[in-house]
Amino acid sequence: MSHMYNLAIIGAGPAGIATAVESYLQGIRDIVLLEKDQNHNSTIRKYYKENKRVDKDWKGQKVELDGRIYFVDGTKETTLDFFDEILANHSVELKTHTEVQKIEKREESVKEPFFEVFVAGSSIMAKNVVVTIGRMGKPNKPDYKIPTEIKNRVGFTLDGCVGGEKVLVVGGGDSAIEYAVDLSAKNEVCICYRRESFRRANPTNQRDIANAIMHKEVEPILGIDIVSLESEDGRVKVIFNDIEPQTFDRVIYAIGGTTPSVFLASSGIKEEDGKPVHDDNYETNIKNLFVAGDITQESGGSIALGLNHGYAIACYIQKNQN
Ligand SMILES: Cc1cc2nc3c(=O)[nH]c(=O)nc-3n(C[C@H](O)[C@H](O)[C@H](O)COP(=O)(O)OP(=O)(O)OC[C@H]3O[C@@H](n4cnc5c(N)ncnc54)[C@H](O)[C@@H]3O)c2cc1C
Repeated sequence: MSHMYNLAIIGAGPAGIATAVESYLQGIRDIVLLEKDQNHNSTIRKYYKENKRVDKDWKGQKVELDGRIYFVDGTKETTLDFFDEILANHSVELKTHTEVQKIEKREESVKEPFFEVFVAGSSIMAKNVVVTIGRMGKPNKPDYKIPTEIKNRVGFTLDGCVGGEKVLVVGGGDSAIEYAVDLSAKNEVCICYRRESFRRANPTNQRDIANAIMHKEVEPILGIDIVSLESEDGRVKVIFNDIEPQTFDRVIYAIGGTTPSVFLASSGIKEEDGKPVHDDNYETNIKNLFVAGDITQESGGSIALGLNHGYAIACYIQKNQN
């Protein structure tokens, strides 16, 4: 523990990369980007299906980009290439396989306070820290129990999906619709959503799911709640509140992610209404400790919003500290 970074960013998703690159472009040097996974953007890698269309205006939210990162509509693959390229073109140190456990501010007997960022077996020092760890590290789970015998048939991503199965997708947002429509090419698919319509989804996904339902490629189970799951000869028996149970080979929940409250609390970051408290510059209750990206949003943000948060933080740090 000897080098003092100017800026440490925790989580190399869109918001983390944007904070790093926009800071670099503002003239800030000595930036480290800490990522727990083996590569940047683990949310995009794990949760986006192959060739997924990536919308800049995700969930229909129109976002004007404030910074210098020019992000446009594309696919999962072009988006990952785009982030590879901007990381390669700006001198930002990316440390992968580095999971941050907590952050502590050190202000005792030093002229300039700094942060100690704890990773397995060691720590990193930095004058400013930005937390951009997203919400998908912990996807939302149902509040009923998933029996052990069927755990390998119940998931939160498309991992393990093969063709020829009867699959239930749970959720009614964009991710759930995209999963259902994609799976319907090779599987018998039902989508279960507690509301009566897919009004929360963006217009393209609303059109896609309406088409899939019209062509009987996806069977809708709308306005219905799931009460519990049971094992039936190793398959998943789904008990609904208002209709007869049905048995599936696989159930996929696409119901968003949760605020990483334990991480925030262990670092002293205050939380209110399911979000970390921050001001207009994304600074938390602790000076020089910021939050950006999905973690600041109650029900998930978007890539473009994360890019804008990164730009705002970079401007603020540059203005206040140089
Ligand atoms: C299925 C799906 C489809 C989507 N489609 C779109 C779309 O088309 N367009 C769009 O704009 N948005 C889309 N989104 C939303 C978008 O992916 C998110 O808004 C965006 O990824 C949030 O960026 P972020 O940087 O805040 O967090 P994330 O992308 O979640 O990145 C957080 C990073 O932090 C890392 N991390 C977590 N904990 C730690 C730790 N303790 N230490 C170190 N690293 C850590 C993670 O491994 C991850 O790499 C979609 C989301 C999903 C789930």
